[in-house]
Amino acid sequence: MHDKEILRFLARIEDIKKHLASLGEMRPGSLSRQYNICGNPTCRCKDPENPKKHGPYYQVSYSHKGKSTTQFVKIDALAETKKQLKNYQTFKSLTEEWVALSVEIVKLRKKAEKKNSKKASS
Ligand SMILES: [Zn+2]
Repeated sequence: MHDKEILRFLARIEDIKKHLASLGEMRPGSLSRQYNICGNPTCRCKDPENPKKHGPYYQVSYSHKGKSTTQFVKIDALAETKKQLKNYQTFKSLTEEWVALSVEIVKLRKKAEKKNSKKASS
């Protein structure tokens, strides 16, 4: 029974490897949208009645090796950036699943070993 489960988990790991190999470009971080006010006192963004801020501006914030960074994203790079961010999320969830499966496999193998040694001694 454990062996079947182990085989199922190993097969899933093979699927994960294939999926990882097919992933495109990635980048870590989260996308946010901003509207800004400029330095020009007569600009539409400072209108006391109906202020219209500049934007939207898009930026990606991430932290890497303990350092957090924010990078602006041009509108024409937005779609590609969203794809890269999504690929990173997929990468992370796949590797987390791989680790979780590996942990389970170790447990199942230990259980199977115990069972076998009981059989052998009785
Ligand atoms: Zn302005």
